[in-house]
Amino acid sequence: MSRFLNKKYWSLKEYTPGEQPQDQQYIKLNTNESPYPPSKSVLDAVNSEEVSRLNLYSDPECKLLKNKLAQIYDVESKNIYVSNGSDDILNFSFMAFCGDEVEALFPEISYGFYKVYADLYGVKYKRVPLKDDFTIDIDDYCNQNKFIVIANPNAPTGIALTLEEIEKIVKTNPDNIVLIDEAYVDFGADSAYNLTKKYDNLLVVMTYSKSRSLAGARLGFAIGNEEIIKDLEKIKFSTNPYSINRLTLLAGVAALESDNYYKDNAKKIIEARAYTVSELEKLGFSILPSKANFVFAKADFISGEDLYKELKTKGILVRHFTDEKIKDFNRITIGTKEQMQKLIETITLIKGEVK
Ligand SMILES: *Cc1c(COP(=O)(O)O)cnc(C)c1O
Repeated sequence: MSRFLNKKYWSLKEYTPGEQPQDQQYIKLNTNESPYPPSKSVLDAVNSEEVSRLNLYSDPECKLLKNKLAQIYDVESKNIYVSNGSDDILNFSFMAFCGDEVEALFPEISYGFYKVYADLYGVKYKRVPLKDDFTIDIDDYCNQNKFIVIANPNAPTGIALTLEEIEKIVKTNPDNIVLIDEAYVDFGADSAYNLTKKYDNLLVVMTYSKSRSLAGARLGFAIGNEEIIKDLEKIKFSTNPYSINRLTLLAGVAALESDNYYKDNAKKIIEARAYTVSELEKLGFSILPSKANFVFAKADFISGEDLYKELKTKGILVRHFTDEKIKDFNRITIGTKEQMQKLIETITLIKGEVK
């Protein structure tokens, strides 16, 4: 760092994104992207005519996209906030809803960015350990009087809470925002977005990056009470009003016209997940019960780190975390059935080599 950096950032430890190698062709099972391309409607919407209009700014109010999302999720467009990736919403939420009086509370094992945002804004926070089976004990989150963030399904475990459990947390913290990060909700968990009509302190955050095949376009959205949405807009219009580019806005609208295509893809991924779990179990893995497009798996014949390295040598990328409590695991994104067959073949090979 330079001597010019504000001292308050000197100790900031930034988020480490999963590898995005640009050189070799890997089977990429490390960052939970969809293995399927965007729908035809998206390819048609992002055309050269639209590229030729990039001299113009995008709509800072994102009206078209908000209206479309409001239809799909049966809310009003004033209940929708859209952003440059859902990370932006998490970022703004830590900026806007925490402070000297409001501390943050989130699981110890969860999306790594929560801690980074809290550190970035100097927010005090408490990280709650998971239970021994890697589930969340919801009692830890009831009546806490803190800004609560929970990924549902959780990452990197893939384990989901029920809607009843989410509601209990929201209901018992009426004076604070409960943010439910639903990045993976389309792969089998229940979304809490309908509860935003009943509770004005619930903010549900979703992304186009996983189930809607647009990780590279950067698009996320949130559903919540009108007043919370206005708060987020205030931050956006105080930082970067055009944060979502024209092409991404078009892609976002067009994707919603092919909802069935994405639902079918999610179904295929859920099927490939079941296949992967049963094959990995035969190979001696224990796997947490996943409702996401990844599984968190621990082998009985090789360490988490060695498996990660062996797979990489053989052309398959998975995600390994070095944190003590989860270092035996690898997070494996569910791709196509063919990709998962290749994964199983490769792990079978590795198992043969280490014995
Ligand atoms: C992928 C992911 C996000 C970020 O999604 P973007 O919309 O790509 O910024 C947020 N939360 C969780 C838990 C994720 O896994």
